[in-house]
Amino acid sequence: MGYCPECRSEYQPQITRCDACGVDLVAQLPPEEELVPVYASTEVLEANLVRETLIAEGVDAALTSSEDHVFPTSGVHTAHRVLVARSATKHAYEVLDAALEAKLFGAFGEIVKG
Ligand SMILES: [Zn+2]
Repeated sequence: MGYCPECRSEYQPQITRCDACGVDLVAQLPPEEELVPVYASTEVLEANLVRETLIAEGVDAALTSSEDHVFPTSGVHTAHRVLVARSATKHAYEVLDAALEAKLFGAFGEIVKG
């Protein structure tokens, strides 16, 4: 049994290479790293700016959106969350703290910790 380390597809034992990615298969996939939210915003543009700021600083970040009540205002908002790998959260918070201090963003959201 082989797995592609790039796309995580599973292959039959006789296959040694992932056609889609062009990489050699591995016997076992490393555990997928858990993603944790580091920033939540009501504005997708702001969340995207946060994501781009993190990526520019070398922190791989993703964006998810969901409807919920995380904000101190009334009613249901669409919350846009910026996610990073758990191992990158310390670096991410350093980048976010500095960016918030410089007022690059923060008008529509806040840092999520814990
Ligand atoms: Zn692949």
